Amino acid sequence: IQPVHVVGGGLAGSEAAWQLAEAGVPVVLHEMRPVRATDAHQTDRMAELVCSNSFRSDDAEYNAVGLLHEEMRRCGSLILRSGDGAKLPAGGALAVDRDIFAGAVTQALESHPLITIERGEIAGLPPTDWDSVILATGPLTSPALAEAIRDLTDESSLSFFDAIAPIVYKESIDFSRAWYQSRYDKVGPGGTGKDYINCPFEKDEYIAFIQALLDGEKTEFKEWEKDTPYFEGCLPIEVMASRGVDTLRFGPMKPVGLTDPNTGRRPYAVLQLRQDNALGTLYNLVGFQTKLKYAEQTRVFRMIPGLQNAEFARLGGLHRNTFLNSPKLLDGGLRLKAMPRLRFAGQVTGVEGYVESAAIGLLAGRFAAAERLGREIAPPPPTTALGALLGHITGGADAETFQPMNVNFGLFPEPEQDPDPKKRIKGRERKKLYTGRALADLDGWLGGTRLAAE
Ligand code: FAD
Repeated sequence: IQPVHVVGGGLAGSEAAWQLAEAGVPVVLHEMRPVRATDAHQTDRMAELVCSNSFRSDDAEYNAVGLLHEEMRRCGSLILRSGDGAKLPAGGALAVDRDIFAGAVTQALESHPLITIERGEIAGLPPTDWDSVILATGPLTSPALAEAIRDLTDESSLSFFDAIAPIVYKESIDFSRAWYQSRYDKVGPGGTGKDYINCPFEKDEYIAFIQALLDGEKTEFKEWEKDTPYFEGCLPIEVMASRGVDTLRFGPMKPVGLTDPNTGRRPYAVLQLRQDNALGTLYNLVGFQTKLKYAEQTRVFRMIPGLQNAEFARLGGLHRNTFLNSPKLLDGGLRLKAMPRLRFAGQVTGVEGYVESAAIGLLAGRFAAAERLGREIAPPPPTTALGALLGHITGGADAETFQPMNVNFGLFPEPEQDPDPKKRIKGRERKKLYTGRALADLDGWLGGTRLAAE
């Protein structure tokens, strides 16, 4: 069997290589460290954690990332197995000793008979005689490769910075204050004239909000992030606020073309929320990319009228991050539509986080293995965390506004419930409807997709 080439030995590439090899497919894993460094990695180990040592919640009953952990364990994930083996006490989170973790991943890959590790940069498109390649080069993909990928796609389909506005669950918005309306009731293609959710500010509420933005604690840019050309095009909201009290009111918070049905007049300022996924469960705060610390974001954004009880599916941020416009460029099997011998995996596909990156590596590895072995493989069901995440990046997300995403319950189809609203399960217990369904459906999927050569 000809090898599959995996480029990048990070979280995603390590997992992809492992899944391929365990399915009986030979792999050449290309990692540029230590020959060439990135701005964040410190070692030459595979799956090095560049920042925090946490894989976040390990609660598979009530938490979407905990569920993803469990699904990956059931798929034989090397990243989860090594994480479990390096576990540190951290309450309900899966935190790891980073050296033990990366050491275990490296050792497992080095000693697998079907895996060959080659150290060196792939400094352009992979050679044409590599007929199956997984590119898992991460948020800090080397410039030569990024350039080649950009030439293959187009200028605007590969980003070098993410500018994430916070995203809320629609069900947590208070519609006694908020209302649906597009500016000037404009009906765009496929629209209704009521495409946005609007949150109105009275003058005193606006002034207090601006002050809170200015006073809020911010995250600093890292030294190497400072000269990346993101500014002006998409300023953090607190930077706009610092330019004058009215800057936001004449920018993303302008109230023109909107009438508050509660007062019958134009509000002093408005926050608009735009639908973020095809399911319509998630809405982003338009223009609200921010460097405020996470705890501050939750506090400050709950000052917005209508969002006082908001639950956030993800918080805002601004980072150096190379990622594709996957909903536009990739097919459901993570292949580049323009060159299907190339698959993508990890953070570069527009997922966010260690676990999500490894999860997409796991799927890319399984898809590439099935292809090599001539076996059919269906994508995981959309009711599973793996399927929900894959579905989001390869089609569910809006390509126009695509920004990296963590796994969260807003990406899953809603569970079926009793039509009688009084009998519906709500709040925390509702999460168990998602997780129970997910694990049952995952087991069904795994049962139907035997990959390993018997
Ligand atoms: P990586 O783990 O970065 O792996 C990519 C690999 O490809 C690297 O080993 C790199 O050396 C190699 N490579 C790159 N280009 C080439 C090439 N041309 N040829 C050969 N090899 C190449 N997520 C969290 O969950 N928690 C955090 O605390 C966190 N902190 C982060 C901090 C920073 C500074 C950054 C940039 C990201 C952070 N992330 C964090 C986001 C993300 O989860 C991690 O970046 C994660 O490592 C992504 O996994 P990956 O496999 O896609 O990429």
